[in-house]
Amino acid sequence: MLRITRFVAASLALHLIPLHAWADDPDWKVGQAHVKITPEHPLFMAGYASRNRPFEKVTTDLYAKALALEDRNGHVAVLVTTDLIGLSAAVAEPVCERLASKANLKREQILLSSSHIHTGPTLSLDPTPRDGRAAGDAQRTVEYTRRLQDQLEDVVLRSLEKREPARLAWGSGVANFVMNRREFTPSGVILGVNARGPADRSVPVLRIDGPDGKLRAVLFGAGTHNTTLTDSCYEICGDYAGFAQTHVEGKHPGVQAMFVLGCAGDSNPYPRGTMEIAKDHGAALGKEVCRVLESKLQPVRGPLSLAFGKADLPLQESPPRAVLEKQAKSKGGLQPWIAQQMLDRLDRGEKFPTHYEAPIGVWQFGEDLTLVGLSGEVVVDYVALLEKALGPNRLWPTAYCNDVFGYLPSARVLSEGGYETRGLYSGGIGLFDAKAQDVLVAKVRELAEKVGRVK
Ligand SMILES: [Zn+2]
Repeated sequence: MLRITRFVAASLALHLIPLHAWADDPDWKVGQAHVKITPEHPLFMAGYASRNRPFEKVTTDLYAKALALEDRNGHVAVLVTTDLIGLSAAVAEPVCERLASKANLKREQILLSSSHIHTGPTLSLDPTPRDGRAAGDAQRTVEYTRRLQDQLEDVVLRSLEKREPARLAWGSGVANFVMNRREFTPSGVILGVNARGPADRSVPVLRIDGPDGKLRAVLFGAGTHNTTLTDSCYEICGDYAGFAQTHVEGKHPGVQAMFVLGCAGDSNPYPRGTMEIAKDHGAALGKEVCRVLESKLQPVRGPLSLAFGKADLPLQESPPRAVLEKQAKSKGGLQPWIAQQMLDRLDRGEKFPTHYEAPIGVWQFGEDLTLVGLSGEVVVDYVALLEKALGPNRLWPTAYCNDVFGYLPSARVLSEGGYETRGLYSGGIGLFDAKAQDVLVAKVRELAEKVGRVK
Protein backbone atom coordinates (compact mmCIF):
# COMPACT_ATOMS: atom_id res chain seq x y z
CA MET A 1 0.00 0.00 0.00
CA LEU A 2 1.27 3.46 -0.79
CA ARG A 3 0.81 6.34 1.56
CA ILE A 4 1.44 9.39 -0.61
CA THR A 5 1.35 12.60 1.35
CA ARG A 6 1.55 15.99 -0.28
CA PHE A 7 5.14 16.22 0.93
CA VAL A 8 6.08 12.84 -0.53
CA ALA A 9 4.33 13.64 -3.80
CA ALA A 10 6.23 16.91 -4.01
CA SER A 11 9.49 15.24 -3.11
CA LEU A 12 8.90 12.54 -5.68
CA ALA A 13 8.32 15.13 -8.31
CA LEU A 14 11.68 16.61 -7.38
CA HIS A 15 13.33 13.15 -7.14
CA LEU A 16 14.49 14.06 -3.67
CA ILE A 17 13.79 10.78 -1.88
CA PRO A 18 14.34 7.21 -3.05
CA LEU A 19 11.28 5.19 -4.00
CA HIS A 20 11.52 2.69 -1.10
CA ALA A 21 11.31 5.44 1.52
CA TRP A 22 7.64 6.06 0.86
CA ALA A 23 6.49 2.59 -0.08
CA ASP A 24 5.12 1.37 3.28
CA ASP A 25 8.41 0.00 4.57
CA PRO A 26 8.26 -3.34 6.39
CA ASP A 27 8.44 -3.00 10.17
CA TRP A 28 11.10 -5.65 10.57
CA LYS A 29 14.37 -7.07 9.49
CA VAL A 30 14.53 -10.83 9.97
CA GLY A 31 17.34 -13.31 9.52
CA GLN A 32 17.18 -17.06 9.84
CA ALA A 33 19.74 -19.84 9.97
CA HIS A 34 19.78 -23.51 10.90
CA VAL A 35 22.30 -26.20 11.75
CA LYS A 36 22.06 -29.98 11.90
CA ILE A 37 22.67 -31.22 15.45
CA THR A 38 22.13 -34.94 14.85
CA PRO A 39 24.67 -36.86 16.96
CA GLU A 40 27.43 -38.39 14.85
CA HIS A 41 28.41 -41.05 17.39
CA PRO A 42 26.28 -43.42 19.47
CA LEU A 43 25.06 -41.62 22.59
CA PHE A 44 22.69 -42.40 25.40
CA MET A 45 19.27 -40.88 24.84
CA ALA A 46 17.46 -38.43 27.09
CA GLY A 47 14.00 -38.59 28.62
CA TYR A 48 13.30 -42.16 29.70
CA ALA A 49 15.39 -43.53 32.56
CA SER A 50 14.77 -47.15 31.56
CA ARG A 51 16.80 -47.10 28.34
CA ASN A 52 20.07 -48.94 28.93
CA ARG A 53 22.11 -48.44 25.74
CA PRO A 54 22.90 -45.75 23.16
CA PHE A 55 20.62 -45.07 20.19
CA GLU A 56 20.72 -47.58 17.34
CA LYS A 57 19.82 -45.50 14.32
CA VAL A 58 18.99 -42.04 13.07
CA THR A 59 15.44 -41.90 11.73
CA THR A 60 15.23 -38.13 11.28
CA ASP A 61 17.87 -35.45 11.66
CA LEU A 62 17.73 -32.98 14.54
CA TYR A 63 18.17 -29.22 14.05
CA ALA A 64 18.83 -26.00 15.89
CA LYS A 65 17.27 -23.01 14.15
CA ALA A 66 17.66 -19.31 14.85
CA LEU A 67 15.39 -16.40 14.03
CA ALA A 68 16.87 -12.91 14.41
CA LEU A 69 14.36 -10.05 14.61
CA GLU A 70 15.11 -6.34 14.38
CA ASP A 71 12.53 -3.57 14.67
CA ARG A 72 12.66 -0.12 13.02
CA ASN A 73 14.55 1.27 16.02
CA GLY A 74 17.28 -1.34 15.74
CA HIS A 75 16.09 -3.40 18.74
CA VAL A 76 17.24 -6.97 18.15
CA ALA A 77 16.10 -10.31 19.57
CA VAL A 78 17.07 -13.86 18.67
CA LEU A 79 14.94 -16.95 19.23
CA VAL A 80 16.58 -20.36 18.94
CA THR A 81 14.56 -23.56 18.66
CA THR A 82 16.11 -27.00 19.10
CA ASP A 83 15.02 -30.60 18.57
CA LEU A 84 16.33 -31.62 22.00
CA ILE A 85 15.13 -32.68 25.46
CA GLY A 86 15.90 -29.25 26.94
CA LEU A 87 18.83 -27.00 27.74
CA SER A 88 19.78 -26.62 31.39
CA ALA A 89 21.10 -23.25 32.57
CA ALA A 90 24.54 -24.87 32.76
CA VAL A 91 24.41 -25.49 29.01
CA ALA A 92 22.48 -22.38 27.93
CA GLU A 93 24.13 -19.59 29.95
CA PRO A 94 27.68 -19.99 28.57
CA VAL A 95 26.17 -19.70 25.07
CA CYS A 96 24.45 -16.45 26.08
CA GLU A 97 27.71 -15.15 27.58
CA ARG A 98 29.55 -15.83 24.33
CA LEU A 99 26.80 -14.06 22.38
CA ALA A 100 27.11 -11.10 24.74
CA SER A 101 30.79 -10.72 23.91
CA LYS A 102 30.59 -11.58 20.20
CA ALA A 103 27.31 -9.92 19.19
CA ASN A 104 26.69 -7.58 22.09
CA LEU A 105 23.42 -9.36 22.88
CA LYS A 106 21.99 -8.78 26.34
CA ARG A 107 20.29 -11.66 28.12
CA GLU A 108 16.78 -10.38 27.40
CA GLN A 109 17.57 -10.48 23.67
CA ILE A 110 18.00 -14.27 23.63
CA LEU A 111 15.46 -17.07 24.03
CA LEU A 112 16.84 -20.63 23.79
CA SER A 113 14.00 -23.14 23.53
CA SER A 114 13.67 -26.89 23.11
CA SER A 115 10.94 -29.17 21.79
CA HIS A 116 11.56 -31.66 24.65
CA ILE A 117 11.95 -34.73 22.45
CA HIS A 118 12.62 -38.00 24.27
CA THR A 119 14.39 -39.44 21.21
CA GLY A 120 17.45 -37.22 21.19
CA PRO A 121 20.81 -37.25 22.97
CA THR A 122 21.39 -36.73 26.68
CA LEU A 123 23.01 -33.35 27.35
CA SER A 124 25.59 -32.82 30.07
CA LEU A 125 28.85 -31.01 30.72
CA ASP A 126 29.68 -33.29 33.65
CA PRO A 127 32.03 -36.15 32.65
CA THR A 128 31.25 -38.19 35.81
CA PRO A 129 29.68 -41.48 34.68
CA ARG A 130 26.21 -41.92 36.24
CA ASP A 131 23.29 -44.31 36.10
CA GLY A 132 25.50 -47.29 35.31
CA ARG A 133 26.99 -45.71 32.19
CA ALA A 134 30.60 -46.22 31.13
CA ALA A 135 33.15 -43.40 31.33
CA GLY A 136 33.35 -43.35 27.53
CA ASP A 137 29.59 -42.79 27.21
CA ALA A 138 29.69 -39.88 29.68
CA GLN A 139 32.66 -38.39 27.83
CA ARG A 140 30.90 -38.64 24.45
CA THR A 141 27.87 -36.87 25.94
CA VAL A 142 30.09 -34.02 27.16
CA GLU A 143 31.76 -33.77 23.74
CA TYR A 144 28.37 -33.61 22.02
CA THR A 145 27.13 -30.95 24.44
CA ARG A 146 30.25 -28.78 23.99
CA ARG A 147 29.91 -29.01 20.22
CA LEU A 148 26.22 -28.14 20.55
CA GLN A 149 27.15 -24.96 22.44
CA ASP A 150 29.47 -23.99 19.56
CA GLN A 151 26.71 -24.71 17.06
CA LEU A 152 24.15 -22.64 18.97
CA GLU A 153 26.51 -19.68 19.06
CA ASP A 154 27.27 -20.04 15.36
CA VAL A 155 23.64 -20.37 14.25
CA VAL A 156 22.69 -17.20 16.14
CA LEU A 157 25.59 -15.23 14.63
CA ARG A 158 24.64 -16.41 11.14
CA SER A 159 20.97 -15.47 11.63
CA LEU A 160 22.04 -11.96 12.67
CA GLU A 161 24.12 -11.58 9.52
CA LYS A 162 21.17 -12.51 7.33
CA ARG A 163 18.75 -9.82 8.49
CA GLU A 164 16.60 -8.55 5.62
CA PRO A 165 13.36 -6.52 5.48
CA ALA A 166 10.34 -8.58 6.53
CA ARG A 167 6.74 -8.42 7.66
CA LEU A 168 5.25 -10.45 10.52
CA ALA A 169 1.72 -11.68 11.07
CA TRP A 170 0.19 -14.22 13.38
CA GLY A 171 -2.84 -16.41 13.91
CA SER A 172 -3.84 -19.55 15.74
CA GLY A 173 -5.06 -23.06 14.95
CA VAL A 174 -5.90 -26.23 16.89
CA ALA A 175 -4.04 -29.50 17.62
CA ASN A 176 -6.44 -32.26 18.55
CA PHE A 177 -3.87 -34.83 19.64
CA VAL A 178 -2.97 -32.76 22.73
CA MET A 179 -4.13 -34.66 25.84
CA ASN A 180 -3.96 -34.09 29.58
CA ARG A 181 -1.99 -37.05 30.96
CA ARG A 182 -2.82 -36.87 34.66
CA GLU A 183 -5.14 -39.84 35.07
CA PHE A 184 -6.91 -40.13 38.42
CA THR A 185 -7.06 -43.69 39.77
CA PRO A 186 -8.00 -45.18 43.15
CA SER A 187 -4.28 -45.34 43.95
CA GLY A 188 -3.51 -41.77 42.96
CA VAL A 189 -2.62 -39.74 39.88
CA ILE A 190 -0.75 -41.74 37.25
CA LEU A 191 0.80 -40.93 33.86
CA GLY A 192 -2.11 -41.87 31.64
CA VAL A 193 -4.93 -40.29 29.69
CA ASN A 194 -7.36 -37.75 31.11
CA ALA A 195 -9.71 -36.58 28.39
CA ARG A 196 -11.54 -34.33 30.88
CA GLY A 197 -8.35 -32.68 32.09
CA PRO A 198 -7.21 -29.23 30.95
CA ALA A 199 -4.86 -28.92 27.96
CA ASP A 200 -3.76 -26.10 25.66
CA ARG A 201 -4.77 -27.22 22.16
CA SER A 202 -3.93 -23.91 20.50
CA VAL A 203 -1.41 -23.78 17.66
CA PRO A 204 0.04 -20.26 17.52
CA VAL A 205 1.60 -19.44 14.16
CA LEU A 206 3.91 -16.51 13.32
CA ARG A 207 4.30 -15.92 9.61
CA ILE A 208 7.45 -14.16 8.37
CA ASP A 209 7.28 -12.75 4.84
CA GLY A 210 9.67 -10.83 2.68
CA PRO A 211 8.56 -7.36 1.54
CA ASP A 212 7.16 -9.06 -1.59
CA GLY A 213 4.77 -11.14 0.54
CA LYS A 214 6.70 -14.33 -0.09
CA LEU A 215 6.82 -16.68 2.90
CA ARG A 216 10.31 -16.91 4.36
CA ALA A 217 9.97 -18.52 7.80
CA VAL A 218 7.31 -19.83 10.17
CA LEU A 219 7.36 -20.12 13.95
CA PHE A 220 4.66 -22.32 15.41
CA GLY A 221 3.84 -23.98 18.71
CA ALA A 222 1.87 -26.77 20.34
CA GLY A 223 1.20 -27.67 23.97
CA THR A 224 2.10 -31.33 24.42
CA HIS A 225 5.20 -33.36 25.31
CA ASN A 226 7.20 -34.76 22.41
CA THR A 227 6.65 -38.25 23.76
CA THR A 228 4.71 -39.96 21.01
CA LEU A 229 7.76 -42.26 20.87
CA THR A 230 8.23 -44.22 24.08
CA ASP A 231 11.07 -45.88 26.00
CA SER A 232 11.26 -48.83 23.60
CA CYS A 233 12.41 -46.45 20.84
CA TYR A 234 16.18 -46.35 20.28
CA GLU A 235 15.99 -44.11 17.21
CA ILE A 236 17.04 -40.48 16.95
CA CYS A 237 13.93 -38.62 15.86
CA GLY A 238 12.32 -35.19 16.24
CA ASP A 239 8.99 -36.82 17.24
CA TYR A 240 5.78 -35.04 16.18
CA ALA A 241 7.40 -31.57 16.29
CA GLY A 242 10.18 -32.69 13.95
CA PHE A 243 7.72 -34.26 11.50
CA ALA A 244 5.55 -31.11 11.64
CA GLN A 245 8.53 -28.86 10.78
CA THR A 246 9.44 -31.19 7.90
CA HIS A 247 5.84 -31.12 6.67
CA VAL A 248 5.71 -27.31 6.57
CA GLU A 249 9.14 -27.07 4.92
CA GLY A 250 8.06 -29.70 2.36
CA LYS A 251 4.98 -27.69 1.42
CA HIS A 252 6.99 -24.46 1.29
CA PRO A 253 10.44 -25.24 -0.10
CA GLY A 254 13.17 -22.91 1.12
CA VAL A 255 11.13 -21.81 4.14
CA GLN A 256 12.49 -22.34 7.66
CA ALA A 257 9.86 -23.84 9.98
CA MET A 258 10.53 -23.60 13.72
CA PHE A 259 8.74 -25.16 16.70
CA VAL A 260 8.33 -23.90 20.26
CA LEU A 261 6.68 -25.94 23.02
CA GLY A 262 3.92 -24.48 25.17
CA CYS A 263 2.93 -25.27 28.77
CA ALA A 264 3.07 -29.00 28.09
CA GLY A 265 4.26 -30.27 31.49
CA ASP A 266 1.17 -32.41 32.11
CA SER A 267 0.26 -33.25 28.56
CA ASN A 268 1.13 -36.14 26.23
CA PRO A 269 0.20 -36.74 22.60
CA TYR A 270 -2.82 -38.99 22.14
CA PRO A 271 -2.51 -41.71 21.03
CA ARG A 272 1.16 -42.54 21.34
CA GLY A 273 3.62 -45.40 21.06
CA THR A 274 4.77 -45.85 17.44
CA MET A 275 6.74 -44.04 14.74
CA GLU A 276 3.63 -44.13 12.53
CA ILE A 277 1.63 -42.22 15.15
CA ALA A 278 4.44 -39.67 15.56
CA LYS A 279 4.36 -39.12 11.80
CA ASP A 280 0.56 -38.80 11.85
CA HIS A 281 0.63 -36.18 14.64
CA GLY A 282 3.40 -34.32 12.83
CA ALA A 283 1.46 -34.33 9.59
CA ALA A 284 -1.72 -33.18 11.38
CA LEU A 285 0.11 -30.33 13.08
CA GLY A 286 2.03 -29.38 9.92
CA LYS A 287 -1.20 -29.35 7.92
CA GLU A 288 -2.87 -27.14 10.49
CA VAL A 289 0.08 -24.72 10.44
CA CYS A 290 -0.15 -24.55 6.62
CA ARG A 291 -3.90 -23.90 6.88
CA VAL A 292 -3.37 -21.07 9.38
CA LEU A 293 -0.64 -19.59 7.14
CA GLU A 294 -3.21 -19.16 4.37
CA SER A 295 -5.93 -17.75 6.65
CA LYS A 296 -6.46 -14.10 7.53
CA LEU A 297 -3.65 -13.24 9.93
CA GLN A 298 -3.19 -10.30 12.26
CA PRO A 299 -0.24 -8.04 11.47
CA VAL A 300 2.52 -8.01 14.08
CA ARG A 301 4.26 -4.66 14.21
CA GLY A 302 6.97 -3.12 16.35
CA PRO A 303 8.46 -1.76 18.36
CA LEU A 304 10.10 -4.67 20.08
CA SER A 305 10.35 -4.36 23.84
CA LEU A 306 12.23 -7.02 25.80
CA ALA A 307 12.52 -8.01 29.44
CA PHE A 308 14.29 -10.82 31.27
CA GLY A 309 14.16 -11.74 34.92
CA LYS A 310 14.29 -14.58 37.40
CA ALA A 311 11.43 -15.77 39.57
CA ASP A 312 12.77 -16.80 42.97
CA LEU A 313 10.58 -19.88 43.36
CA PRO A 314 10.24 -21.30 46.91
CA LEU A 315 11.03 -24.98 47.48
CA GLN A 316 9.49 -27.27 50.06
CA GLU A 317 11.41 -28.39 53.10
CA SER A 318 13.04 -31.73 52.38
CA PRO A 319 10.86 -34.77 53.14
CA PRO A 320 12.06 -36.82 56.14
CA ARG A 321 14.84 -39.32 55.44
CA ALA A 322 12.47 -42.29 55.82
CA VAL A 323 10.24 -40.92 53.04
CA LEU A 324 13.24 -40.30 50.77
CA GLU A 325 14.54 -43.81 51.41
CA LYS A 326 11.19 -45.26 50.43
CA GLN A 327 11.02 -43.08 47.30
CA ALA A 328 14.57 -43.99 46.31
CA LYS A 329 13.58 -47.66 46.28
CA SER A 330 10.46 -47.10 44.13
CA LYS A 331 10.64 -48.04 40.48
CA GLY A 332 10.62 -45.96 37.33
CA GLY A 333 10.50 -42.29 36.49
CA LEU A 334 12.26 -39.42 38.14
CA GLN A 335 11.26 -39.93 41.73
CA PRO A 336 13.84 -42.57 42.79
CA TRP A 337 16.60 -40.60 41.07
CA ILE A 338 15.66 -37.33 42.78
CA ALA A 339 15.15 -39.01 46.16
CA GLN A 340 18.59 -40.65 45.91
CA GLN A 341 20.21 -37.29 45.06
CA MET A 342 18.57 -35.80 48.15
CA LEU A 343 19.76 -38.69 50.34
CA ASP A 344 23.29 -38.28 49.00
CA ARG A 345 23.18 -34.63 49.98
CA LEU A 346 21.93 -35.46 53.47
CA ASP A 347 24.76 -37.98 53.80
CA ARG A 348 27.27 -35.29 52.85
CA GLY A 349 25.79 -33.03 55.51
CA GLU A 350 24.71 -30.48 52.90
CA LYS A 351 21.70 -28.21 53.20
CA PHE A 352 19.03 -28.11 50.53
CA PRO A 353 18.39 -24.87 48.69
CA THR A 354 15.29 -22.96 49.80
CA HIS A 355 14.58 -21.38 46.37
CA TYR A 356 15.21 -21.91 42.68
CA GLU A 357 15.71 -19.01 40.28
CA ALA A 358 13.68 -19.71 37.16
CA PRO A 359 14.51 -17.45 34.18
CA ILE A 360 11.67 -15.76 32.28
CA GLY A 361 11.83 -13.78 29.06
CA VAL A 362 8.99 -11.53 27.87
CA TRP A 363 9.01 -10.10 24.33
CA GLN A 364 6.46 -7.45 23.42
CA PHE A 365 5.75 -6.83 19.74
CA GLY A 366 4.18 -3.35 19.62
CA GLU A 367 0.55 -3.68 20.68
CA ASP A 368 0.09 -6.85 18.67
CA LEU A 369 1.65 -9.79 20.49
CA THR A 370 3.35 -10.83 23.74
CA LEU A 371 5.64 -13.85 23.72
CA VAL A 372 6.26 -15.22 27.22
CA GLY A 373 9.24 -17.58 27.44
CA LEU A 374 8.97 -19.56 30.67
CA SER A 375 11.61 -22.03 31.80
CA GLY A 376 11.06 -25.56 33.06
CA GLU A 377 8.33 -28.07 32.33
CA VAL A 378 5.39 -25.80 33.06
CA VAL A 379 1.96 -27.40 33.55
CA VAL A 380 -1.10 -26.17 31.65
CA ASP A 381 -2.67 -24.34 34.61
CA TYR A 382 -0.18 -21.52 33.98
CA VAL A 383 -1.81 -20.72 30.64
CA ALA A 384 -5.01 -19.73 32.41
CA LEU A 385 -3.06 -18.00 35.20
CA LEU A 386 -1.12 -15.90 32.67
CA GLU A 387 -4.29 -15.10 30.73
CA LYS A 388 -5.78 -13.80 33.97
CA ALA A 389 -2.67 -11.81 34.90
CA LEU A 390 -1.94 -10.35 31.45
CA GLY A 391 -5.25 -10.58 29.60
CA PRO A 392 -6.07 -13.46 27.26
CA ASN A 393 -5.59 -11.82 23.88
CA ARG A 394 -2.49 -11.50 21.74
CA LEU A 395 -0.66 -13.76 24.18
CA TRP A 396 1.73 -16.60 23.29
CA PRO A 397 2.85 -18.52 26.39
CA THR A 398 5.78 -20.88 25.80
CA ALA A 399 7.84 -22.98 28.22
CA TYR A 400 11.00 -25.13 28.06
CA CYS A 401 13.05 -21.97 27.38
CA ASN A 402 16.51 -21.08 28.71
CA ASP A 403 16.61 -23.59 31.58
CA VAL A 404 14.79 -26.91 31.67
CA PHE A 405 15.33 -27.67 35.36
CA GLY A 406 12.37 -29.95 36.03
CA TYR A 407 8.60 -29.80 36.30
CA LEU A 408 6.92 -26.62 37.43
CA PRO A 409 3.60 -27.73 38.94
CA SER A 410 0.73 -25.42 39.87
CA ALA A 411 -0.67 -25.30 43.41
CA ARG A 412 -3.52 -27.54 42.19
CA VAL A 413 -1.20 -30.15 40.72
CA LEU A 414 0.96 -30.10 43.87
CA SER A 415 -2.07 -30.71 46.06
CA GLU A 416 -3.22 -33.61 43.87
CA GLY A 417 0.20 -35.28 43.56
CA GLY A 418 1.51 -37.25 40.60
CA TYR A 419 4.53 -37.29 38.31
CA GLU A 420 4.73 -33.51 37.75
CA THR A 421 5.28 -32.81 41.47
CA ARG A 422 8.72 -34.42 41.52
CA GLY A 423 10.74 -31.25 41.44
CA LEU A 424 14.13 -30.24 40.14
CA TYR A 425 16.34 -32.59 38.21
CA SER A 426 19.09 -30.16 37.29
CA GLY A 427 20.66 -27.09 38.83
CA GLY A 428 19.91 -28.27 42.35
CA ILE A 429 17.61 -30.66 44.10
CA GLY A 430 14.25 -29.92 45.65
CA LEU A 431 10.49 -29.90 45.34
CA PHE A 432 8.51 -26.76 44.54
CA ASP A 433 6.30 -25.24 47.18
CA ALA A 434 2.68 -24.34 46.33
CA LYS A 435 3.62 -20.65 46.76
CA ALA A 436 5.90 -20.93 43.69
CA GLN A 437 2.81 -20.48 41.51
CA ASP A 438 2.03 -16.95 42.70
CA VAL A 439 5.71 -15.96 42.69
CA LEU A 440 6.06 -17.03 39.05
CA VAL A 441 2.90 -15.28 37.87
CA ALA A 442 3.82 -12.09 39.75
CA LYS A 443 7.25 -12.08 38.10
CA VAL A 444 5.77 -12.52 34.62
CA ARG A 445 3.38 -9.67 35.34
CA GLU A 446 6.23 -7.46 36.52
CA LEU A 447 8.14 -8.16 33.28
CA ALA A 448 4.98 -7.61 31.23
CA GLU A 449 4.63 -4.17 32.87
CA LYS A 450 8.21 -3.40 31.98
CA VAL A 451 7.59 -4.09 28.29
CA GLY A 452 4.28 -2.22 28.28
CA ARG A 453 1.88 -5.16 27.96
CA VAL A 454 0.05 -4.24 31.18
CA LYS A 455 -0.03 -1.12 33.34
ZN1 LIG B 1 8.91 -33.83 30.40
